[in-house]
Amino acid sequence: MSREGVYNFSAGPSMMPEEVLKKAQSEICDYRSSGMSVMEMSHRSAIFAEIFAQTKNKLKKALKVPDTHEILFLQGGATLQFASIPMNLMGTSADYAVTGNFSSLAAKEAEKYGRVNIACNSADRGHSYIPKQSELKLDAGASYFYYCSNNTIFGTEWQYRPETKGVPIVCDMSSDILSKPVNVADYALIYAGAQKNMAPAGLTVVIIDKAIAGRQMSVCPSVMSYDTLIKKDSMLNTPPCWCIYMLGLMLDWLESIGGVGQMEKIKSERAAKLYDFLDNSSLFIPHAEQGSRSDMNITFRTHSEELDALFVKEAASMGLLNLKGHRLTGGMRASLYNAMPMQGVDALIDFMKKFEVEHNAK
Ligand SMILES: *Cc1c(COP(=O)(O)O)cnc(C)c1O
Repeated sequence: MSREGVYNFSAGPSMMPEEVLKKAQSEICDYRSSGMSVMEMSHRSAIFAEIFAQTKNKLKKALKVPDTHEILFLQGGATLQFASIPMNLMGTSADYAVTGNFSSLAAKEAEKYGRVNIACNSADRGHSYIPKQSELKLDAGASYFYYCSNNTIFGTEWQYRPETKGVPIVCDMSSDILSKPVNVADYALIYAGAQKNMAPAGLTVVIIDKAIAGRQMSVCPSVMSYDTLIKKDSMLNTPPCWCIYMLGLMLDWLESIGGVGQMEKIKSERAAKLYDFLDNSSLFIPHAEQGSRSDMNITFRTHSEELDALFVKEAASMGLLNLKGHRLTGGMRASLYNAMPMQGVDALIDFMKKFEVEHNAK
């Protein structure tokens, strides 16, 4: 199999635009006549310092990050942030909205460091929905309110930003960052593992209001202290240099297609097409409830596990890859991140239509 005619629906690490990969390929052995690859450069060199500063600026511009906030490029994945956040910000208690696997894991991790108030838990309906603002049980004394804007595994996405009456908001945006504009000033901290919608695995982006740094627990490791990381401009130790460079290329590509404003239109259209097909299908059943659906990860199934498995297998033989749902949910999941072209969705729907005709006898 070659890349030609293949659409990769992986939930992460996920597909990147071919132009970005080609650009990286053209520079991989000799970055701009430096005589070396970005992978081989000192992170303290002038040439890498420029890549670092430019990537930061591009992200600042793409998301209109205000000067009150600092951008950090870190290692450890989103999962390390599950611990970093409470160690830095929790004080005595925090509110956690549990709407899927990753927010559940984050809440469990936070329990080691203080009191966790579960503001909501959508497990009662298989994490198929996002609770309404009026259903959130908020603690006015909480140090922060934590939520995950897009639930990668279950395929739900918050369609609103929770109102917390002044309690700082922390958000895991790993799987929908850069898919639409966000008002960064509304958040005390936004973070995202890069491998869903930004860059290769190994980079975690944190966007933090500088005013909330400096409250870390005394046992907080230096490499997890936001205060220290801000002061060191993400270079307390070696940052994920190659991934930072790749993020720069991804941001150039995003700008070339019109930025996050244009991406919001594209991703909405892309997802609407697939949901429309699912809603009218006599075979496929969408998982997420109307009004809570993710535009990034679309989860669905048929009436039988055997048929689901057959679907995934036959789809793969047609070049429609990685459609198997997460082990927690079963069924199927089509991840439609920024790099997925509309042709990929069209090819998927065409295949689903054929499969539906062949297997419709229930
Ligand atoms: C993938 C994912 C994570 C975990 O990311 P790692 O980088 O593997 O730690 C956390 N949150 C969300 C929303 C994700 O999609």
